[in-house]
Amino acid sequence: MKARIALLSAALGLCCPVFANTAHTSALTSQFYYDGLIVTPDGNGYFGQQWLENATDVTLFPKNGNTAIWTLTLTNWRGQPIAGEPVEISTAPLTLTAPQWREPDDMAARFSRSVRTKILTRIEQGLFRLTAPFDVSSPVTDARGQVTVAIHNFHSCGNDSVPGSDRFVARVGSQQQTLEVKCAVNGLVPIPDTPNQGLTTAGLVGRHLHPNLLAALQNLGRAWHAQPDKPAGMPDHLTITGATMRWGGINPPHFTHKFGGTVDIRPLGTQSGPISVGDAAYDRQATQSLVDALVQLGATQIIFADNLRGVTQVKANHKNHLHVSFLSEPLEPWHHDDADTDSEGLHWHNYDGIYDTRYFIPTVKLLEPAALRFDLAD
Ligand SMILES: [Zn+2]
Repeated sequence: MKARIALLSAALGLCCPVFANTAHTSALTSQFYYDGLIVTPDGNGYFGQQWLENATDVTLFPKNGNTAIWTLTLTNWRGQPIAGEPVEISTAPLTLTAPQWREPDDMAARFSRSVRTKILTRIEQGLFRLTAPFDVSSPVTDARGQVTVAIHNFHSCGNDSVPGSDRFVARVGSQQQTLEVKCAVNGLVPIPDTPNQGLTTAGLVGRHLHPNLLAALQNLGRAWHAQPDKPAGMPDHLTITGATMRWGGINPPHFTHKFGGTVDIRPLGTQSGPISVGDAAYDRQATQSLVDALVQLGATQIIFADNLRGVTQVKANHKNHLHVSFLSEPLEPWHHDDADTDSEGLHWHNYDGIYDTRYFIPTVKLLEPAALRFDLAD
């Protein structure tokens, strides 16, 4: 028995002080501290802190001001800090590496011509981020054997099966730690096309929404489907023409639609397919009843070209869709200035100091279809 323990010990290197004199005498460990918006897989969220030991991957919500601290600690074989060792930090895109997501000119080209210069300026200023920016506390380990790396959120989250991510590598001598930093709004769900239940989509690139918003819109669709006495030719489903990318974040050419709390919905008319204010087939009364229902669900912002009751901003360039949001100040998390507007006239916004989940997670009333009524009479 004793012999077996001795053999096992030898195999594990437990009895071999010679190791103390090899290159394996130091250890590099990491701790990750995150203070910001944490969204759970079911789409609920809270502002809070996370500490993770030797994390291999972390997720940053695409809100400016969400900064994480990656602390690297170098110790010797006795567990004592090693000071003064040079630390090299490098980073590169790991997923979502296409230039249209990562290169300023290629990203700017996805926005309308009138705002491209502004986009490039904001990228240069570090407000609109295609990769995760970082700051290193010192080029060498301090008296505690540590360097800290502040890693800031970015906005290239994407529409693929996995979110956009950057791979961070810290090297100290022969030791190395890696960290995958992901950009994602967790918990968003895809919109199914179910016209026979009253809700479908057209022309979507990003087709994700917060689950609470999708559930509310599906009930709205069911109510519309069941609505009797619709005018001849009017579809018995509602059509969503704009939503959010799978992981949220940048959604060109939109300035908004980044958190899953905002949708574009087609107005109603006496034909299926696209309908615009001014078309002979546009039905003002039916569209008014749709706006009324959206207000019932808790819409905070409705932008539309027709000055209907409940529309919060009348904009001539919103003829073929209602832009509807369920967020507080559903604007842009980069910068706000009156001059910063996109082709739809929507503003930039600086969310740095905002710690209210309603700016990022929609507040929606889930009403049963029977509670939603459409008044189609003139
Ligand atoms: Zn919109």
